[in-house]
Amino acid sequence: MLLKISTTYSPATDLGYLLHKHPERMQSFGLPFGQAHVFYPEARVENCTAALLLDVDPIGLVRRPHGQFAENFALAQYVSDRPYVASSFLSVAIARVFSSALSGKCKDRPQLAETVIPLKAELSILPCRGGEKLLRRLFEPLGYTVTAEQHSLDPHFPDWGQSRYWTVTLENTCRLSELLTHLYVLMPVLDDEKHYWVGEAEIEKLLKHGNDWLAEHPEQESIARRYLKHQRRLTREALAQLREEDIQETDEATQAQEETEVEGQIGLNQLRLAAVTEALKQSGAKRVLDLGCGEGKLLRKLLPEKQFEEIVGMDVSHRALRIAQERLHYDRLPEKEKKRLHLFQGSLGYQDKRLAGYDAAAVIEVIEHLDLPRLATFERVLFEFACPRLIVVTTPNIEYNVKFENLQAGNFRHKDHRFEWTRDEFESWAVDVAKRFGYTVVFHPIGPEDENVGPPTQMAVFTRKIDK
Ligand code: SAH
Repeated sequence: MLLKISTTYSPATDLGYLLHKHPERMQSFGLPFGQAHVFYPEARVENCTAALLLDVDPIGLVRRPHGQFAENFALAQYVSDRPYVASSFLSVAIARVFSSALSGKCKDRPQLAETVIPLKAELSILPCRGGEKLLRRLFEPLGYTVTAEQHSLDPHFPDWGQSRYWTVTLENTCRLSELLTHLYVLMPVLDDEKHYWVGEAEIEKLLKHGNDWLAEHPEQESIARRYLKHQRRLTREALAQLREEDIQETDEATQAQEETEVEGQIGLNQLRLAAVTEALKQSGAKRVLDLGCGEGKLLRKLLPEKQFEEIVGMDVSHRALRIAQERLHYDRLPEKEKKRLHLFQGSLGYQDKRLAGYDAAAVIEVIEHLDLPRLATFERVLFEFACPRLIVVTTPNIEYNVKFENLQAGNFRHKDHRFEWTRDEFESWAVDVAKRFGYTVVFHPIGPEDENVGPPTQMAVFTRKIDK
């Protein structure tokens, strides 16, 4: 089994620092089930490739205690794919051989480990139960470009059809630790098999390695289920913990309280919702998205407007969505209204096909919750891939904060805000985004405008230039 990792980062040979493996040496490591060898087929400044060759000992496998095989049939000892495919054996090898790189540590060059670089992983044979569709559903939301070639069962007997084995290339611009973590978790998920006993400790491992990405991954349920070998109790526990963490991070339902208190003095929320509803109505939009819909305040205002034939609320927080559902009395809505309104969990940090084909999107008081690398992804997710004709974005104007008596100087309006922008900052961001993605943009103040510091909320209305 061969895994190759390449980069074109300059100088590409820095990959050696990141992996803690010198490009000029071949190194071998003994593992409980065989040998791992690391070497560099190519180590140039422009391009560098590290290879991890895993040599699983098939005889050793047979001698190991029962339960080492994917297939439980009589000849399994003799006809096993395990030595030749990317599976949980390779995950273990990555964890042993590249342990520092996997955890994002780089003693000599700590900055380098933090840097996103162009990376390519090539897996010589990857078993995919679920086929190319699942392969893409697992890796594409994480930003990967996936190339996959399926192998026939036997090239001499085409009638036998296709096998479940693929040669796969994954390309992404990310940290090396992210690439390794994604491979570590998702290879056994695709294989839908593990060579070892899975218990409580496996939940911890999943949550540790899925820390930054799993809570928002659209396939989190199937990932957890397969990773935990379909054990229902473990899967339930893992998902509950995952969502709890997710809620803690983005629990707007309680955190929004502070912001409401700060802004409440001037009834800002109502003014904002009215301005956004008006912009959506004016545009003639029929099918609209409310992205980061929170507890559904905007949805509630849009629902009585018959112009909107389909209204979608998306939020990363399951808890916020549950509250939205309750507040909108979703269960008691007439069937016709239920058909107009859809709520689903999703993240603006991931490309999502469900967001395509709408007339308009509102993103109300959400961007300031995204940290800057996420903001860049959000721009592509919304303006490049979903690309509705109209996009309305609102965000606080930080200049106005001095006017809020109950806000301490220097504080943001909300604990979870990653930034708050001045009018200049927001406008230059919006103009740049509009230019890059083919939109025009106009700005509107929301709330009482102060001569010196402007309005409390700023709104940008983007209109796509070209019909798609
Ligand atoms: N638009 C709502 C809520 C604003 S609070 C309103 O105006 O009332 C910000 C919301 O953005 C929260 O509900 C939070 O869960 C959501 N959010 C934060 N990061 C997100 C992401 N990456 N994708 C989708 N929603 C996100």
